[in-house]
Amino acid sequence: MEKAKMVVVGAGPAGIATAVEAKAAGIEPVIVLEKEENPCHTIHKYYHEGKRVDAVWQGRKVKPIGICQFETCSKEEFLKLMENYIQEYNIDLRTSQEVHKIEKINECFRVWAGKDTIIETPIVVIAIGIFGKPVKPRYKIPKEVKNKVFFGTQTQCTPGAKKILVVGGGDSAAETACFLCENAEVYISYRRPKFFRINEQNLKELEKRVKEGKIKLLMDTDIESLSASPDDKVKVHFKDGQEMVFDAVCYCLGGATPENFLRAIGIELNDNRPKIDECFETNIPGLFLVGDLVFKKGSIMAAFNSAHIVVEAIKNRYRDRLERGC
Ligand SMILES: Cc1cc2nc3c(=O)[nH]c(=O)nc-3n(C[C@H](O)[C@H](O)[C@H](O)COP(=O)(O)OP(=O)(O)OC[C@H]3O[C@@H](n4cnc5c(N)ncnc54)[C@H](O)[C@@H]3O)c2cc1C
Repeated sequence: MEKAKMVVVGAGPAGIATAVEAKAAGIEPVIVLEKEENPCHTIHKYYHEGKRVDAVWQGRKVKPIGICQFETCSKEEFLKLMENYIQEYNIDLRTSQEVHKIEKINECFRVWAGKDTIIETPIVVIAIGIFGKPVKPRYKIPKEVKNKVFFGTQTQCTPGAKKILVVGGGDSAAETACFLCENAEVYISYRRPKFFRINEQNLKELEKRVKEGKIKLLMDTDIESLSASPDDKVKVHFKDGQEMVFDAVCYCLGGATPENFLRAIGIELNDNRPKIDECFETNIPGLFLVGDLVFKKGSIMAAFNSAHIVVEAIKNRYRDRLERGC
């Protein structure tokens, strides 16, 4: 069995920043386990090519406090920045290593990943984000239309669709609509009468496309159900009785806490949110959470900052255990 001083689960912005902060603090060895083939899987999968990665996200300006920081840039520039952190801090990143079990035995954790990786460590930091579980609507998606319905802005999944409905009212809904409207007629359905948490830049871009007639806004609309239309499209039934037909529907409703994963480890939850203290330590001593898992509305800068807070707490609370190891 391999031994480490710290295991980080997930190599998104929060996981990489945690490893960077830990290495800078002299904690060694630190192992980062990532389930996909590349780090930053959420960004690879959900951000469209050339997407602007905003330093101010969901209208929240977060002042950087740690080592990892960034300024608004493109998706490709951001991924390069993360790659540079991995190189510069010589991060031991293991990809295609999905963590499926974490167990505490006496003072140490055993972390199981992939087919046969088992690592023993006194400290575990979980950084798996929330986009493994995109939020879905309450109504059922009929199986006849499942191949035309997408969650979490999988923009690459709608080739050929000429009329698309984007559902949601946040930044990712605005960006998805602006991206898709270059090749399709796009509608946005949002339950509120106006957008209130979109950043300025996205609002400007959206208003421009609306003026140009490329995007049509269906404000104050609520969807009741979906069905298959006779011409093999998706019929959307709104609560006010209106019906519209689309080639594809993209739900941009954000992500949800991976409750089952956290509960299986023994982490206590309250109202579907993990119980954590001011330094993001869970009810299990030595087990911390970072990134989107700890915020109601997460962002990259908030994820970076959470990594700094957690590593500071680990240094203060677990100095002995880090020295002793397992
Ligand atoms: C479309 C879209 C656009 C966005 N645009 C912006 C923006 O412009 N600016 C901004 O600040 N924020 C933006 N965000 C939000 C931002 O992406 C998140 O806040 C950020 O990615 C959170 O980082 P994280 O490391 O907590 O989680 P994630 O980035 O989700 O990373 C989690 C990682 O953990 C891995 N993982 C999951 N389960 C396991 C497991 N069991 N074992 C091992 N690894 C696992 C995943 O594969 C992934 O690589 C956007 C989000 C979306 C969906």
